[in-house]
Amino acid sequence: MKIGIIGGGIAGFSCARKLKEKISNCQITVIDKRREPFKKYLLSRWLINKAKDSDFFINWQSINSGVEFISSRVEKINLDRRSVYLKEGGVQVFDKIVLATGLEAERLDFKGARKKGVYYLANYLAVRELKETIRRARHILVYTSSISMFGLELVSFLTRLEGKIINLVYNQTLSFIYDKESLSLREYLSLKNIGLYAHTKIEEVLGEGRIKAARLSSNKILASDILLIDSFLKPSLIEIAPFSSAEKEGGLKDILPGYRKVFFVCGDVNSVKERGINFFFLNRLRAQRDASELAGALCR
Ligand SMILES: Cc1cc2nc3c(=O)[nH]c(=O)nc-3n(C[C@H](O)[C@H](O)[C@H](O)COP(=O)(O)OP(=O)(O)OC[C@H]3O[C@@H](n4cnc5c(N)ncnc54)[C@H](O)[C@@H]3O)c2cc1C
Repeated sequence: MKIGIIGGGIAGFSCARKLKEKISNCQITVIDKRREPFKKYLLSRWLINKAKDSDFFINWQSINSGVEFISSRVEKINLDRRSVYLKEGGVQVFDKIVLATGLEAERLDFKGARKKGVYYLANYLAVRELKETIRRARHILVYTSSISMFGLELVSFLTRLEGKIINLVYNQTLSFIYDKESLSLREYLSLKNIGLYAHTKIEEVLGEGRIKAARLSSNKILASDILLIDSFLKPSLIEIAPFSSAEKEGGLKDILPGYRKVFFVCGDVNSVKERGINFFFLNRLRAQRDASELAGALCR
């Protein structure tokens, strides 16, 4: 049996590992747009050298033999043909297809958002380059426009790096959770020497080609060598024929009755209606559990 897993994060990896344990004669191919898929929940630690490469990057070799890894973005799936279409033009055909593409950040549209040095953390592909850029940057600006708390986690880790000037900008949605605790949050950030710009948005990124500063909605200008954006997260969906995008908006798990033996979904990509996708603290465990259950279902 040929099984194709799209997405090599925690969910895809756990699923491949379980499948290998349960069925010895299946051929598993994992396809990920990243060259080196990693464990997102260790990103902050890894960026400041508090997690080792060997813990952070997914170790495909640790699954005993027989898992093929392809580094490519999947553009489309056709379930009638059981085919997966790669960005570079190749097509892979499987008996069963698992979607484990996780979450991606919604692009923000302020002026200069595409300049060099502006990174969307959830989407970023080349994390080694990002780490190097952070190491060289003196002024680091983190922009949290969701309640995912990744931005907060990240700034608290970044303060452990020496010689950095760190500012945190968050828009009003965060105040929703932090109103009660805003005092302690403020105290914490000021204790850590992190500049806090609450209820504020980034209006524009300044600099020729590369970010030099950011202008906030208050008109304040902050020097920034790098801007790290933790913005609204949404399931990372791809075109799946024969389904319309409207059907996919409703969540993937229950909409594919005709394809229950062909198409499977696991991990964060399946978050839409099932859980609050932004409270990520338990999602990893959930992704692992989903993947194990799924591996069981695939064997049946
Ligand atoms: C900063 C941070 C801290 C976290 N901390 C915790 C924590 O403490 N505890 C916890 O339980 N959880 C935590 N989480 C959440 C946890 O990391 C996620 O729930 C988990 O990574 C979900 O796994 P996944 O495999 O579903 O998705 P992902 O890890 O996002 O993996 C999806 C993979 O699919 C690939 N992909 C996407 N689209 C395509 C495509 N079109 N073609 C090919 N490949 C594609 C991506 O490159 C990626 O490698 C944290 C998350 C973040 C961001």
